[in-house]
Amino acid sequence: MTTSSVQHFTPERPLRVAVIGSGPSGVFATEALLKQTDIPVQVDVFDRLPTPYGLVRYGVAPDHLTIKSVTKGFEKTLSDPRVRFLGNVEFGTDLTYDEARRHYDAIIYTVGASSDRRLGIPGEDLRGSMSATEFVAWYNGHPDAAAREMVLNATGVAVVGVGNVALDVSRILAKTVEELRESDIAAHALTALEQSPVRDVWVLGRRGPLQAKFTTKELREFGELEGADPVVNPEEIAVSAAEEAQVTDNVVKKNLEVLRDFAGRTPEGKPRRVHLRFLVSPVEILDDGQGHVSGLKVERNRLDENGNAVGTGEYEVLPVQMVLRSVGYKGVGLPGVPFDEQRGVIPNTEGRVEGRTGEYTAGWIKRGPSGVIGTNRKDAVDTVAQLLADAQAGALPHASQPSREAVDTLLRQKGVEVYTFADWQALDAHEVAQGRAQGRPRAKVVHKHEMLQHRQREMQQAEG
Ligand code: NAP
Repeated sequence: MTTSSVQHFTPERPLRVAVIGSGPSGVFATEALLKQTDIPVQVDVFDRLPTPYGLVRYGVAPDHLTIKSVTKGFEKTLSDPRVRFLGNVEFGTDLTYDEARRHYDAIIYTVGASSDRRLGIPGEDLRGSMSATEFVAWYNGHPDAAAREMVLNATGVAVVGVGNVALDVSRILAKTVEELRESDIAAHALTALEQSPVRDVWVLGRRGPLQAKFTTKELREFGELEGADPVVNPEEIAVSAAEEAQVTDNVVKKNLEVLRDFAGRTPEGKPRRVHLRFLVSPVEILDDGQGHVSGLKVERNRLDENGNAVGTGEYEVLPVQMVLRSVGYKGVGLPGVPFDEQRGVIPNTEGRVEGRTGEYTAGWIKRGPSGVIGTNRKDAVDTVAQLLADAQAGALPHASQPSREAVDTLLRQKGVEVYTFADWQALDAHEVAQGRAQGRPRAKVVHKHEMLQHRQREMQQAEG
């Protein structure tokens, strides 16, 4: 890279941007770059996986198909001739930081938050205890988790946390196989869940119903499950008139209405129950003596004047053999890129990476794991505005080898099998066709080697 005076980007020498991560934030950032007409751009969107869309494919619940329809717009963005998708390229190895700097005038890091937070209580590493993130990755057929052996022999499962992810995993555990067949859940998970003996799922909030993070639409779904009754203890959702009068958030008001409705219901005697519990904190995951979860000890809480949970010294043991902690995602650093370990984000000012020029960040790795998919559109637009302002001001370091061909040569020399957008579209069509044949919306190809084999077959067919 060289530093020089103001560079005017032209159609012959467009502004070259590398977007690292093809989840919603990466695609929204790309879309924002395409929407403006002041500066000609060329964008390469990288992903370490062959498939694009990040959490839309591997995080959104498999039964929330309408949320996934956002990919229609993503498809348009990634099909634009100014954009290339380069899947199966790992940042840090296949494309190092220095190499990226050599080929691009600007880099936007949009890698999301792939790890999870821990509870910090004894027993967290027992067999049967894991993060919801791992469980979600497994049932959504994420290549890193697909080969994982998941023993689903628990009759009781505790899900710690009351955000939407906690509701997602609880609902998937509670649904009947007929309900799950309508989703795009990975086949291995469908088979395993079909045999699951689970009877009781406990969803555990450490604070009260007014502090729960889930949204009403997701909560309501528990009242409509074919094979599971929602169970709520009226005492745990009791809220004084004064507290209720202070609630201004409509979601919180509606959540309370739904919880009261659940608390007033007589369970219909469905085979499964989802207990929505409040004011309880896990304090220890119990060992059966063989290294496996045999129970979860929880302490009852009260709320202090600031709405924080305070233990009361009263304990109870839940009869569970599986514990899923769903207490938030956490970002992971990228080689060569500044990282705030504490917060799990790339340190930045309004999307500009601290201490760097020509480097930006958007989405969960910029601000932490909060908000819905759409939240990331504005977030990405804001970041791209900073990038464009820097480009206009001539403040970007210029790439020394600014061409697509140079990137292709580099990756070829390294033996990287780049998965293009056309490769993905062929895989997508294949998954949908396979799914349709089974009466399902999609049959996901889960292993990376199978995705690459599919590409090989397509190439051979095209040649022959
Ligand atoms: P979240 O909404 O931040 O919820 C995390 C939950 O964990 C909170 O209830 C939190 O309680 C609890 N928690 C944290 N530390 C804890 C501890 N030590 N012990 C007990 N509980 C603890 O996170 P998320 O569920 O992972 O969701 C991430 C984001 O994705 C959210 O913005 C969510 O809305 C979004 N999402 C949306 C959908 C959808 O739209 N359908 C689906 C999935 C995810 P406190 O409040 O007490 O800290």
